[in-house]
Amino acid sequence: MKKDFEVMLVEDSRTQALKFKLMLESHGYQVSHAKNGLEAMNMLFNSQTSIVISDWIMPEMDGSELCRAIRKHDFGNYVYIILLTAKDSKSDIIEGLEAGADDYLTKPVDDAELIARLTTAERVIRLESSLRKRNKEIALLSITDPLTQIFNRGYLNDNLPKAFKRAIRYHHDLSIIICDIDYFKKVNDTHGHQAGDLVLKSFVKKINESLRKDLDWMARFGGEEFLIVLPETDTNGAIVAAERLRSQISAMVIPFEGNDLRVTASFGIATVTHGTHNPQLTSDDLIRAADQCLYRAKDQGRNQSIGVCI
Ligand code: GH3
Ligand code: MG
Ligand code: MG
Ligand code: MG
Repeated sequence: MKKDFEVMLVEDSRTQALKFKLMLESHGYQVSHAKNGLEAMNMLFNSQTSIVISDWIMPEMDGSELCRAIRKHDFGNYVYIILLTAKDSKSDIIEGLEAGADDYLTKPVDDAELIARLTTAERVIRLESSLRKRNKEIALLSITDPLTQIFNRGYLNDNLPKAFKRAIRYHHDLSIIICDIDYFKKVNDTHGHQAGDLVLKSFVKKINESLRKDLDWMARFGGEEFLIVLPETDTNGAIVAAERLRSQISAMVIPFEGNDLRVTASFGIATVTHGTHNPQLTSDDLIRAADQCLYRAKDQGRNQSIGVCI
């Protein structure tokens, strides 16, 4: 049966390598061959190899050096290493394991034993790969707002200060927009919480579609408040962007249980400009300034944008 795993043999003796290759292939493994450690490293960077079976004594880079080199790099998947050695003193074996080998076999190698060890290797690799996948999912969940699927407040708290510092360091402008849905409580009160949730999702989708891909990003700031980050954008650019979003939101119709729901939103914009910035300023000052503009936009009748430079 064909296996999912690519095995790389690292062996300086051609005859030994051929013998192992034929045996492993007869058990369904795809097998590649490197003549020494250096060649093995080059091949690992360009392959999906997850199991390395390496001879110990080889010219250029020996088995334990190869283990150390492999452990220094991330190949995107775990590389399970089995060292083959004619050495069988305890201290040699310890050296190999300390260098990063997962397992070892003493020569002459028994075919059945090697195949059994490979089954263990497969089990470890599968486990590692499912853990890696799960960790990625958890990392993503920890920065995502569950309702709207955009970044959450935690992500914003970590990343807006970084964007701010980057803007100052590279002498770029940086703008943020805080938007808040007008009279949103009324949506919940009149049509229920589910309608409110639907409005929030539709609102976010509409805004997200309108942002510059891979450059602007938004996060849920609070209940029905969102913060949009616009790198390399001056006040005029940010006001134009906010006005575009404002008019798109006010034109949006959200069907819900036979009703057409409509909302408007108010927008507060703040920009830090590269020319005139005060070195004491932080991203909190930018948020405070945008929040004050938002408050004024609400106060002056809602469904409008107001911006300021700090
Ligand atoms: P204003 O124009 O001054 O912003 O008025 P508003 O009604 O939008 O503001 P207010 O702060 O009084 O109400 C916000 C409401 O948002 C209250 C809260 O129940 C609701 N809300 C917050 N998060 C959620 C959510 O996840 N889902 C739903 N359905 N409602 C939410
Ligand atoms: Mg050798
Ligand atoms: Mg509101
Ligand atoms: Mg609010």
